[in-house]
Amino acid sequence: MGKILDGKKVAQIKSEELKHTVEKLVSEGKTPHFCVINIGADPASKVYVATKARRAKKLGIIEETYQLPAETTEAEVIALIEKLNADPEITGVMVQLPAPDHIDVDHLMATIDPEKDVDCLTPANTGRLWIGNHFVEPATASGIITLLDYYDIDLTGLNAVIVGRSNIVGKPLAALLLERNASVSILHSRTKNLAEHTKNADIVVAAVGHPKLITADMVKEGAIVIDVGINRVDKHLIGDVDFDEVSKKAAWITPVPGGVGPLTVESLMEQVVKLAMRHKNDRG
Ligand code: NAD
Repeated sequence: MGKILDGKKVAQIKSEELKHTVEKLVSEGKTPHFCVINIGADPASKVYVATKARRAKKLGIIEETYQLPAETTEAEVIALIEKLNADPEITGVMVQLPAPDHIDVDHLMATIDPEKDVDCLTPANTGRLWIGNHFVEPATASGIITLLDYYDIDLTGLNAVIVGRSNIVGKPLAALLLERNASVSILHSRTKNLAEHTKNADIVVAAVGHPKLITADMVKEGAIVIDVGINRVDKHLIGDVDFDEVSKKAAWITPVPGGVGPLTVESLMEQVVKLAMRHKNDRG
């Protein structure tokens, strides 16, 4: 039976550390100030935005949610981002995705000030991530590295296979795993034979959104298995990995819920704090 990578526990430990850092910033009059823009009424987005607001407030971070109607134009969202960029009191800005179809997300991302880009999705910060010179990291990918670090898992030379090539999970995680000297492959919806790749992997990351896509026969004995997927099936949350069967073969595995999810939120808060500290240093 594989050992559990307990994201909930690690997130709590990280949260305590972060709380002290925020207290210090507050005492210096440099309270992190984080703004979330949510466009439309996507139910999952509303839950995520509420979770971020709650976590931020608990840590002592000032959080403002801008809830915009679904029919808000791209120009209006860009005008809001520009206003937040220009406000020296605001240290972090993000747009909750997905945005409605009439809005070009690339245009929004290109408008966010990279120094306030808590999601690490601006073109400048994406580039910095790939050249290994970044000051902010995408939350989910960063949370996965935090989890592996906590359990002292050395990634050097490991064969890592990521299933899913999204800009928010798969691709940035590849950059961070490369930084830790893993050899990385990214698989996707057009990959011909997933199992052929995953069977040889020392570490398999599933970030697809397809319940139980990764089955025991696709994973080698002793692998590290990270399940990013969140799927609602019969009112339950399940991952992209068939946990019951795969955990019998894996050396380490994340549960869903309680694995990557809690660390993603904590890791986002860490980015908010990192940018607030840079902001402070810039002024100092
Ligand atoms: P996405 O829809 O943007 O990307 C999905 C990726 O999966 C695509 O790159 C696609 O090519 C690939 N894919 C689709 N079908 C496939 C198949 N049959 N075989 C191989 N690859 C396939 O999704 P995303 O935003 O990256 O999210 C992926 C999953 O992770 C979702 O379930 C999402 O809810 C979850 N998620 C969880 C967290 C967390 O904190 N735990 C954070 C972000 C996303």
